[in-house]
Order: sequence, then C-alpha cells, then structure tokens
Amino acid sequence: MSTIKKIGVMTSGGDSPGMNAAVRAVVRTAIYNGLEVYGIRRGYDGMIHGDIFRMEAHDVSNIIQRGGTILKTARSKEFMTEEGRKAAYDQLKKHGIEALVMIGGDGTFRGAVAFFKQYDIPAIGLPGTIDKDLSGTDFTIGFDTAVNTAVEAIDKIRDTAESHDRLFIVEVMGRDAGYIALNSGISCGAEDILIPETVTRINEVLDRIESDEHRKKTVHILVVAEGDDFGGAKEVDEKIRERFPELSSRICILGHIQRGGSPTYADRVLASRLGHAAVIALMEGKTQVMSGIQNGQVTFTPFEGVVKQNTPISEDMLNMIRTLSI
Ligand code: ATP
Repeated sequence: MSTIKKIGVMTSGGDSPGMNAAVRAVVRTAIYNGLEVYGIRRGYDGMIHGDIFRMEAHDVSNIIQRGGTILKTARSKEFMTEEGRKAAYDQLKKHGIEALVMIGGDGTFRGAVAFFKQYDIPAIGLPGTIDKDLSGTDFTIGFDTAVNTAVEAIDKIRDTAESHDRLFIVEVMGRDAGYIALNSGISCGAEDILIPETVTRINEVLDRIESDEHRKKTVHILVVAEGDDFGGAKEVDEKIRERFPELSSRICILGHIQRGGSPTYADRVLASRLGHAAVIALMEGKTQVMSGIQNGQVTFTPFEGVVKQNTPISEDMLNMIRTLSI
C-alpha cells in the first residue's frame, strides 16, 4: 500500500451528468480509508490559481442525484503552456496534495499526459463526458443520461411531426463522435442517422426520403450529430428544401439540455464504481491510468491509450437502421 495521505479531486472540460456522483464516491472512499481530500474547483484553471479547499464527507451529501458538478468545471488555455502547468504543480505542492483524481473527457486526459511528462504525481482519471469518445471504457459518465434526454426530446418531436405530417431534422451533440446520435436515433425509430464516423452522401439521404415518400411515410425524423462531415441540421435542411420544396421540414437543435439534468441510475452506478475504484487504485500504487468499465468489469488504461480514438461504429448497427426504418 502507498503512503499517500492527501489527494485532490477535480472535474474538467465539458460537464456531464454523474460527475457529482463520481466526486461523492471519491471523497467518501478516500475519507473512509483515512485520506484527506481536497476539491479543486474549475479543473486545470482552479489548479493553476489555487482554488483548492478541504472536503469532508458531508460536503458531498445530497449531490448524487444532481446534474452539473459542484466542483465547477472550466477549459484552461493556460494549462496548455509549460508555465501554466508549472503553476498548477506549485499549487499542488503548496497544498500538500500528493495524488490526483481527475474526471473529464479526452482533452482532460491529453492535458494529463502533458502534465505528467513534466511532473511525477500519482493520478487516476475517470471518464466524465457525454460523448463516449474515449478508449478503455465501454461507457462514460454522463453518456446514458444524455442519450435518455435526447430520446425524451425526440419522442416529443415525433408527436408533433406525426400531427402535422412533418419532416424533422434533430441535431444532437457529438462534435467527433456519433454515439448520442446513433443510440437516440435507434431508440426513437429515426428514419436516418447521420454521424461523423461515416461519410454522409447527402444524395443518398435525399433518395431515401423520396422512397419513403413513395411508401407514403408521412413522418420522417432525421437525427444528425452536430459534427457530421456534411454539416449540422441547417445544412441538411437546406438540401432537403432544395430538392423537396413541397415538404414541410423543421429543425430542432437539442443543444445544452443534453448536458444537464439528473443522472440516470446507470450513470450514478458507473460514477460510484469508478470513483471508488480510482481511490483504491491510487492507494494500491496505480498511476496515470483511467478507470473504465469493460464487459462489466472495472479496468485501468494508461492515459496515452485513452485519448480520443474514434472506435468504428459497427456496420451491423448501421445496416439495422435501414432495415428497421422501412
Ligand atoms: P468534453 O469531451 O466533455 O468536452 P474534455 O475534457 O475533452 O471534455 P476539453 O476542453 O477538450 O474538455 O479539455 C479540458 C482541458 O484540458 C482544456 O481546457 C485544457 O486546459 C486541457 N488540455 C486539453 N488538451 C491539452 C493539451 N494537449 N495539453 C495541455 N492541456 C490540454
């Protein structure tokens, strides 16, 4: 067992539902095991500027069900520089923090790789992002909630689309990853799903709308990831209006509602398991790895191996969409 006595915990990058549950698990596991815990507010920015405070078990009461993050989060340009990272290290030393638990997405882990090249501090990461665009884990904290939020919204859109015989293009989050689009689209019976991982041939999308029309489908829901290579909902809508001026189409950009809200049970359990495992791993001497979930088991993957790797979307899933939307 290691001799670590004081650990810091932070949330960084885009917020995701379940980050609070993760913070709670880290704080409580650490205190249970006799460690002191320090919260670092606003991610790397707070680390640089010493926005650091002691946390007790009661500081994380009543947060497991809350979206957002009580530690706040931020993006930090300063941390991209050597001077910024040195200032962050100096603050950790000043507060006597001997190890870190960092909760964030791919940018957070890229920052971690740069930081630990310069400074040797034990650290464990947790995948906290709605995008599910990290290797080394089958799910990320916040993804399940974000998909469920999108599903609820698209179901509502379908009701109004059905009433007016309308075509809706729903844009969901996902700059580089189409998992939210794919999973919400399948769950809502979307007619088409456009994602960054596959080349969007817009004429084929339009052909499918035309053939749906021939089959007297009156409702079309297209789910588009914001980072689709062809463009977002607006660009797709322009093409649709050019080719089908008689069609009544509408756009709905779901935006930030996908980040907020109370985390689902799946995200709470995932966050609790990974937060607990991260502290135990630190005490066992593990470092510079992310705790993730693979085939139901907690696993640890080095930070270098975690940073964004767009896992190919299974062809089976894509083919299934065509079959199920006839
Ligand atoms: P999400 O995927 O939800 O947006 P994220 O963790 O990817 O979350 P980013 O804003 O991409 O969010 O990254 C968080 C922070 O990590 C950045 O603001 C920056 O301070 C730091 N960071 C990212 N890349 C690097 C890098 N190459 N070197 C140093 N720091 C970095």
